[in-house]
Amino acid sequence: MPRGDGTGPVGGRGRGQGGGRPSWAGPGGECVCPACGYREPHERGVPCTEKTCPKCSAFMMRAR
Ligand SMILES: [Zn+2]
Repeated sequence: MPRGDGTGPVGGRGRGQGGGRPSWAGPGGECVCPACGYREPHERGVPCTEKTCPKCSAFMMRAR
């Protein structure tokens, strides 16, 4: 794909997001269990991947 057509660097890095967090990694997300589909609101400061599903004890994933 063409990249340098005179507009400078292309990409989503000019928004002042520090720390390398994806834009969706903010409040308001959900954690979802990849095994059984259980969802719960994401708890701030607690990565979904460190939580386990209350139903089947699998590690949760971040959902949008
Ligand atoms: Zn589960």
